[in-house]
Amino acid sequence: MEKVPMRLCDAHCHYQFAEVPYEAVEQARQLGVGEAMINGSAPSDWAEVAALGQRDARNLCSFGLHPWDVPTAPPNWRDELQRFLEKYPQASLGEMGLDQWVEGYDLPAQVEAFKWQWQLAVALQRAVTIHCIRATGPLMDLLRTLPVAPRGFLLHSWNGPRELVPELVQRGAYFSYSAYHFAATKTAQREQFAGVIPRERILIETDAPALCPPLEECLYTLPPGEDGKPSNHPANLLKVNESLARMMHLAPAETAALTAENFRRLFVSR
Ligand SMILES: [Zn+2]
Repeated sequence: MEKVPMRLCDAHCHYQFAEVPYEAVEQARQLGVGEAMINGSAPSDWAEVAALGQRDARNLCSFGLHPWDVPTAPPNWRDELQRFLEKYPQASLGEMGLDQWVEGYDLPAQVEAFKWQWQLAVALQRAVTIHCIRATGPLMDLLRTLPVAPRGFLLHSWNGPRELVPELVQRGAYFSYSAYHFAATKTAQREQFAGVIPRERILIETDAPALCPPLEECLYTLPPGEDGKPSNHPANLLKVNESLARMMHLAPAETAALTAENFRRLFVSR
């Protein structure tokens, strides 16, 4: 019998960033990476994300204002975002969210940007990708005041407590597993992917060039970016999938198929 090659879907990445040469994306594709959701983070990179979408149908596009970019967003970012989403009807909304980790954050401004983007996603019927670091309290407060997103949303590199999972699932959440979960200190977060989070809500991601696994767990690395940290290679999705498979006591081919099906339900099917 012919072996069916595994095809992995990357739920969250930033191929538009300079740290990721396109040859690395092509290398990942040869190793079994299929569709990838490329997340824009500010008006300055949305055109780049759209260009990647034109280059290969497996490059899916998402446009959004990242909480780190809220302070420097140009005054017309809302019009621009709406324009991009209307021009690309298959695109998702993200990366948006809340972050109380990076110093000097302005939570009220992040909340305002979050609300506006969420309402736009509801109006245009798009899936949403959320970044949330040290802000699960404010996130829950906010979600409870907002209408349910009709297409659902991804909590990328989920790092919150297990107690919140049932309510989030009921509100339409999906959760992605990443190299963040490899660390010995993240056992509580990692174990949620084996029992607490429903199987039909689990995805995998690299966040490339961010979230580089420890060097001994990398298939490949890319030269460091401006911050001096090694950059994550898109092919490391294979390692993320292997780690999830061990966690769930499944074969890598099974978690590949499961997470690809979940990816398509959230981001592709209408
Ligand atoms: Zn990201």
